[in-house]
Order: sequence, then structure tokens, then C-alpha cells
Amino acid sequence: SLSDRLGGVFDRLKGRGALSEADVRAAMREVRIALLEADVALPVARDFVENVTEQAVGQQVLKSVTPGQQVVKIVNDALVAMLGAEAVELNLAGTPPNVIMMVGLQGSGKTTTTAKIAKRLTEKDRKKVMMASLDVNRPAAQEQLAVLGTQTEVATLPIVQGQTPVDIAKRALQAAKLQGFDVVLLDTAGRLHVDQQLMNEMKAVADVSEPEEILLVVDALTGQDAVNVAQNFTEQVPLSGVVLTRMDGDARGGAALSMRAVTGKPIKFVGTGEKLDGLEQFHPERVAGRILGMGDVVSLVERAAETVEKDEAEAFAKKMAKGQFDMNDLRTQLQQMQRMGGLGALAGMLPGMKKAQAAMAQSNMDDKVLVHMDAMIGSMTREERSKPALLNAKRKIRIAKGSGTTVQEVNKLLKMHKEMSTAMKRIKKMGGLKGLMKMFG
Ligand code: GDP
Ligand code: MG
Repeated sequence: SLSDRLGGVFDRLKGRGALSEADVRAAMREVRIALLEADVALPVARDFVENVTEQAVGQQVLKSVTPGQQVVKIVNDALVAMLGAEAVELNLAGTPPNVIMMVGLQGSGKTTTTAKIAKRLTEKDRKKVMMASLDVNRPAAQEQLAVLGTQTEVATLPIVQGQTPVDIAKRALQAAKLQGFDVVLLDTAGRLHVDQQLMNEMKAVADVSEPEEILLVVDALTGQDAVNVAQNFTEQVPLSGVVLTRMDGDARGGAALSMRAVTGKPIKFVGTGEKLDGLEQFHPERVAGRILGMGDVVSLVERAAETVEKDEAEAFAKKMAKGQFDMNDLRTQLQQMQRMGGLGALAGMLPGMKKAQAAMAQSNMDDKVLVHMDAMIGSMTREERSKPALLNAKRKIRIAKGSGTTVQEVNKLLKMHKEMSTAMKRIKKMGGLKGLMKMFG
């Protein structure tokens, strides 16, 4: 992640008054790599880094933070600003029926998103909504939308065979006018690749239906191709916004930045699942965090507050502020992990934890292993727990016997403790948990 990458650069940046061009350029090389790893398209990453470098060079380093924090903050703020600082609602201010046209490549999630938006407008905004499929290329496409209409209890335009997309659009508008619908969603056909016939068809539909919104639906896993796709659609029709689907998967969110840069249009929604309630408003800060790999510190703290006793948390925060981390702390952490839903829940939430995670993954950690680790720590003396350096070969054998484990497992535990205390030291260096929260608050 970026925080890991910047670790070395942070150290070099230490203790200077203003950020020099050389400092910033060194940090920005790492930022650029992090952006590319997050699937930001190359030209977009290049422009972004260029802009941020200009902003950052010469900035005074504040007394209360490290230069590294300052750079991350500048990058984070620039990302949020570029992604669009505030949520943009659908524009449904025209004379009804307002038309929302969905465009994008095949498989990007157009049909699913059409139904999701229809459901949301019906339930949340109390609109009278109709959906119509203009996909005459794939035999089952119109039926797919009809099924989704039944599921969501949203009206769909009755299917008439042999009509062109323009015919269907006209018929949908007419029916909507006659029957007093507020919104008509037009789900258009997509191809596997951008082609001119698709574009012409799309333009013709836009001409006859005069949509209030033309939403480009893009799969968040689209990487370097994102720029081409967005550019092609942008050149042909006046897009009003973007929907990024499959953000529930392990997409790093880079496509959001690419889309925003190329189309200049806001990201209005993100798709977060196959189910029809998997549609959320776009949160720029969250996506910026995902792209930077700085971890969702805020949600970590929120969830920790729910599950951890208050004084336990305070004691831990104090130790962490000092950069201390002994076996008792590791034990507390292991117990918290279990309460917070196992190791997966903690994955990636704290910056600098990647190595600790790798150590855990190496030891094939599951919840049974957590129990073993707890037993091993339980077999240590008080002294050993607060000073793990005491653990020589003889003591390790004793602990393994006492806990019904092996010396190998004891060694793995020690390795994990070491990685975690390194991570804690890094957090301390970055100003502690409070400092981190300030950056993202
Ligand atoms: P279209 O060809 O653009 O109309 O794409 P579809 O709406 O038919 O979706 C293609 C596939 O992607 C389907 O299996 C959907 O269930 C799935 N899908 C759509 N949106 C999302 C999403 O936000 N998350 C996940 N996990 N799957 C999605
Ligand atoms: Mg479709």
C-alpha cells in the first residue's frame, strides 16, 4: 500500500521546514505507483501527480505533523477534490416524465443498475417509475428487465417484438405521458467493445427521448481500458454522470478517478452487490482511502468503540502512543479480532499492517489458530509477556508443551508480534491514531 511505500520516503523527509521539489518528487513516484496499483489509468495518474506536485512543493510543514503526513494529506485532499467533494443527486427537475438513459458496455451492470435505481426512486422518492429495455440484440434482455420489474414491483414497458430501440423509446415516452409516470428509465444495449453502430443507435435514442440524465455504467474493475471507454461515450452523447458497479468486490477504486478525469462528470452511485438494494451514494473520502490504501481508519475506530471496553481502548491507545506493544497487547488484539468478526474484518484497516497480515496469512491463521495463540500467551510468565525478548529456546519449548502447541507455532507467534509492534511504531511515527484520524476527519 501507499503507506508502506512511503515509509522510507517519510523518514528521509523528516525535519525540514518546507517541502522541497526533490522531496515531493521522491514521494510522488511512490504515489504514482500506488495509483497504478489501484487501477487508475496511466494518463490520469500522470496528470494527477503533476498537479499535486505543483500544489505540494514549497508548502510549509506544519509543526504538529510529519512531512510524510503532510504529503499524504495533500494527496488525499486532492483525490477527494477530484472525485467530487459532495454527492450529486439525480436531476429530475424537468417536466415529467423525466428520462434517465443508461449506457455502457455489455456486462457492465446496466440492466441491474436500471432496476436498482428504479427501486430506489420508487421506495425512497415515491416516484412513479417505468423501465423499458431497448436491448433488441440479445434475445433474453427484455425479459431480464421484465423479471427485475416484477421483483421490484416497478412497471416495465410491455414487450413488442420487431421494434427498433428508437421505436421502443418513443413508445415508452408515450405510455409514460398517458399513464402519468414521473420517471422513465431506458436500459440500452451494450456491446463487448465500443462500436459505431452502438453509438449511432444510442445517439438516435437520446435525440428522440431528450433524457434529463445519461448515466454511463462502468465496472469498477475496468483498469487501463477505462479511459478509452469513457472517452468514446463522452464524445458521442452528453453524459450527466457515472455509475460505478462491482465496488463490493476487491476493486481498488482507481476507475473512479479515471472516470471523473475523462468525463468530467460526477459519480452518482456505486453498485455494491448483485442484489437490488446494492446501490449506494458515492463517498469520495472512502474511495480516496481505498485508492491510497491508507485503510479505513474511521470505520476501524467506530467498530472498535462498539466492541472494545472503553478503558481497555484507552489503555491500548496510550501504549500505542508510546510505540509499545507487548504480548498482553497482542492477546488483547487477538481477542478483539475475534469479537470484530475474525481476521478478515481487520484486514487492511490499519495503515502499515500489511506485513503483519502477511505474517498471519503465512501462519495459515484461522479462528482455531487464534485460540492456539491465546493458549501460548497464556502459558507465558508475566515477565515473558511484557518482555518477549526473554523467550529463548528453552522457554519456547516450555510454552509449546504448556499450550499443547509446537515450538514452530511459538516462533510464528513471535514473528507476528514483531510485525505488529513494527506497525505500531509506524503509527506512532505518523502521529498516533489521533493524527491519522485528523488526516481523514
Ligand atoms: P448489462 O449487460 O450491462 O446489462 O449487465 P447486467 O446488469 O446484466 O449485469 C451483469 C452481471 O453483473 C450480472 O450478473 C449482475 O448481477 C452483475 N452485477 C451488476 N452490478 C453489480 C454490482 O454492483 N456488484 C456485483 N457483485 N455484481 C453486479
Ligand atoms: Mg443489459
